[in-house]
Amino acid sequence: MSERVIPLVDLRAGARAITLPTTPARANGLLADTRGRPLRDLRISVTDRCNFRCSYCMPKEVFDKDHVYLPQAALLSFEEITRLARLFLGHGVRKIRLTGGEPLLRKNLEVLVAQLSALRTEDGVAPDITLTTNGSLLHRKARALKDAGLQRVTVSLDGLDDRVFRSMNDVDFPVAQVLEGIAAARAAGLGPIKVNMVVKRGTNEHEIGPMARHFRGSGVVLRFIEYMDVGATNGWRMDEVLPSAEVVRLIQREFPLVALEPGAPGETAERWGYADAAGRFDPALGEIGVISSVTQAFCHDCNRARLSTEGHLYLCLFAAQGHDLRSLLRAGADDAQISAAIAAVWGARSDRYSELRGTQAAPARQRVEMSYIGG
Ligand code: SF4
Repeated sequence: MSERVIPLVDLRAGARAITLPTTPARANGLLADTRGRPLRDLRISVTDRCNFRCSYCMPKEVFDKDHVYLPQAALLSFEEITRLARLFLGHGVRKIRLTGGEPLLRKNLEVLVAQLSALRTEDGVAPDITLTTNGSLLHRKARALKDAGLQRVTVSLDGLDDRVFRSMNDVDFPVAQVLEGIAAARAAGLGPIKVNMVVKRGTNEHEIGPMARHFRGSGVVLRFIEYMDVGATNGWRMDEVLPSAEVVRLIQREFPLVALEPGAPGETAERWGYADAAGRFDPALGEIGVISSVTQAFCHDCNRARLSTEGHLYLCLFAAQGHDLRSLLRAGADDAQISAAIAAVWGARSDRYSELRGTQAAPARQRVEMSYIGG
């Protein structure tokens, strides 16, 4: 698909060792970073494998047949993931998102979902468990995931035109099977269902209208994501970014929209509701979202941490290096020590890449691949 091939520099091995604080502080759920941002959202990558080759994430030319995936022994086990998740809950995490690669490629994922769903905070609150998938296996897995305790699901879908979609996933995967997966998720009672469309100027912006028409009034929340300079292999260029403001204008030509209140603090999407004839938000018609990391950075209240599939803690989607929690786990550190390590790493966090993008201050470092830490 894309002509620019940038060789992959394997950053997976370069995680920082964590020095355990001498006087571990007890987790009180009030942990904040150097900008006062709490830790609320934990994204857990459960595999570095994917069955798609979306050019903005895992270009086929780079992630080719010779690409070496992580060996099974390097991956965190479900028990290790659940133990870490429990400790993150102690520091204030309330939302757990399972990602990848493609998370449904991880065998028996419902076992992990059941373990995570059984977790509770000290005051008995259950975490919100959700998952981001390319939808390719959802038609087979939706029921089992729901029964295991999954509450919601976000499906990536970059167009309805089969030719466009097949070329964007670059493995000739049919759009119909993803739509079947969305229907299966709905039938299983997973919801609200969100659909994420990455918009790349010159590739699929003409799919914005058809996608809006298809999901309007369906109960599915459609979000448009600005094409991002994630990782170091997708050959990102600013002139291929279609700013979200243009996306909103495009849709407003056909459907009146009203701005809606932001969701929870740290919510990445700007919400727009479909309006009725009187110009008021009509919940029956539903809403869309735009996620504008390039043109409207939202680092000020970013409360997201990312755990790679081998237990490295990343503090930003555009980070270059993680912090090695797995070594602590496998070296026999106890809960208090690992919890203190999480607090020390998050407490020192100052990341705000999107605010700095394109400025002198922007860190000119090789960024970790999104397929490794999840979107
Ligand atoms: S660029 Fe980094 S700090 Fe900013 S919102 Fe994204 S993940 Fe958060």
